[in-house]
Amino acid sequence: MSILLLPDELVDQIAAGEVIERPASVVKELVENSLDAGASRIEIDIEQGGAQLVRVRDNGAGVASGDLPLALRRHATSKIRTLEDLAAIATMGFRGEALPSIASVSRLRLTSRTAGAEQATELLADSVDAQLRPAAHPPGTTVEVRDLFYNVPARRKFLRTPATELSHIVRFVERAALIHFGTAWKLRSNGRTLLDLPLASNAALIAERLASVLGGEFMSHALALEHRAGPVLLEGWVSAPTASRSQPDQQYLYVNGRVVRDRLLASAVRLGYRDVLYHGRHPAYLLNLVLDPGLVDVNAHPQKLEVRFRDSRQIHDFVFRAVERALSDTVRAATPERWLPAAQRQQPGGGPSWDLLQAVGGVASVAPEYVPQQLSRASGRFGTAIAQLHGIYILAQTADGLVIVDAHAAHERVLYEQLKAQRDTRPASQALLAPVIVTLKAHELEIALTQTAEFERAGFEIERFAPTEIAVRAVPALLGTQDLQAMIATVVREVIGQQGSAHLQDAEHRVLASMACRSAIHANRHLTLEEMNALLRQMEQTERIDQCNHGRPTWVALGMTQLDQLFLRGR
Ligand code: ADP
Ligand code: MG
Repeated sequence: MSILLLPDELVDQIAAGEVIERPASVVKELVENSLDAGASRIEIDIEQGGAQLVRVRDNGAGVASGDLPLALRRHATSKIRTLEDLAAIATMGFRGEALPSIASVSRLRLTSRTAGAEQATELLADSVDAQLRPAAHPPGTTVEVRDLFYNVPARRKFLRTPATELSHIVRFVERAALIHFGTAWKLRSNGRTLLDLPLASNAALIAERLASVLGGEFMSHALALEHRAGPVLLEGWVSAPTASRSQPDQQYLYVNGRVVRDRLLASAVRLGYRDVLYHGRHPAYLLNLVLDPGLVDVNAHPQKLEVRFRDSRQIHDFVFRAVERALSDTVRAATPERWLPAAQRQQPGGGPSWDLLQAVGGVASVAPEYVPQQLSRASGRFGTAIAQLHGIYILAQTADGLVIVDAHAAHERVLYEQLKAQRDTRPASQALLAPVIVTLKAHELEIALTQTAEFERAGFEIERFAPTEIAVRAVPALLGTQDLQAMIATVVREVIGQQGSAHLQDAEHRVLASMACRSAIHANRHLTLEEMNALLRQMEQTERIDQCNHGRPTWVALGMTQLDQLFLRGR
């Protein structure tokens, strides 16, 4: 075959193959154009999951009638002029590809009017033909896309059920609405209103929008985050670790307001939660990374869903630290209620409060002399210990009421944070008089030896001793010397057991976490009041004390008002 230049129509259809995957991609492109046009209101109508109709109407700047035919031309755009513009792109679009691609695989009608124009102009186009005529339309633009893929049967076959296609559309519109607060959104499917979000021009309205899209649950556990370093800002909300989810279904990431799918950012956020999240659980978050457009390449993916950072390592660390700090700051900033699981924040009459009440039945058995007459002056937010309950919980009287502490969980967190702090200033490692020999399975031993550096950073010195034995020559001083053999074996097993996808830095943390768990007070250990108070004071000094290393809460509070309500006092 000889070489031939492809006809424009076919070129557009090939481009459409990349850009327009399904009706939701049409919605995305049209909505982004409306946002670029500065619209403060966007209305979207869908029929049959978008295969029959996608209509997007906005009140943006509009297209001048003379420019209309150009809007449908390939590589025609009002958004960039030069390569420099591309490097500093502030608009959603810039390729001039979307409208011609869509027009090549559907029947498209574009009606638009600029603010100054006397009337609107309408452009009707399909893959072969385009016509212009005057029309009635307020300032702004409406794009109607009918019969998507009517001329590309192979594509049409790949469309899923209308309900599935609609769910992709809803998900995209929600994502866009969760960041573009300066725009009012309406989404209808077959005439039924699915989303109706008024302009969110202040904090209260923003909170209302978040709650109506994400649910009240998200809002009641969300911690606001704002972290800046030089030209980079991370802003948004992260959920308290105790409000983690079983699915990663509430994770919203944006770069300069652009909806992105970015593994680097997602893994950085996840790392920020590593110390506080229960295994297999997923955090909820909504985060926008704002940075100089020159620091990020948005021209890396045909649908602009992926971005490339100039310095990805630095961005990763920045995001990770910002999230980590937001979660640890809550030790100081958040009110205790904020961190209680929602169920326990319910008003009396609702389930869990009654369980707590029954647990306090245990309190009656405490001898009165153990109850201090006054709160000691030294006591802080966790108050003064008054009793230990069933060998597990510490009960403490606070200025505001009662705090119940899970002694093991809290102690584990205290130790873990101490170990990490030690590690940062070089571990206080303690050489053993005689090495402790730990027996492992051959493969466990091989894995353990690949992690020598992490063990070392945590204060262990290990080396091969025999085919199934390692010799431990030094241990972290904090470990003490009791029961070393079993402790080391557990730590080693735990660290290598979670191998695989794990990150090296994680291995080091697992060494510490596992040490903390092994060394923490265990159930049924009798504690004196002094020991209990010492733990409460340590808790007050410890970051991230609200959850143990596995993400479970370490304490709950029952305020006097709540207690009074339980007993119907003051009514
Ligand atoms: P791009 O967005 O990459 O520029 P598109 O093919 O999506 O390319 O759109 C082509 C041009 O049509 C845009 O550059 C813009 O000038 C104009 N346009 C498209 N949609 C709208 C709209 N809703 N409001 C105003 N102008 C629009
Ligand atoms: Mg566009």
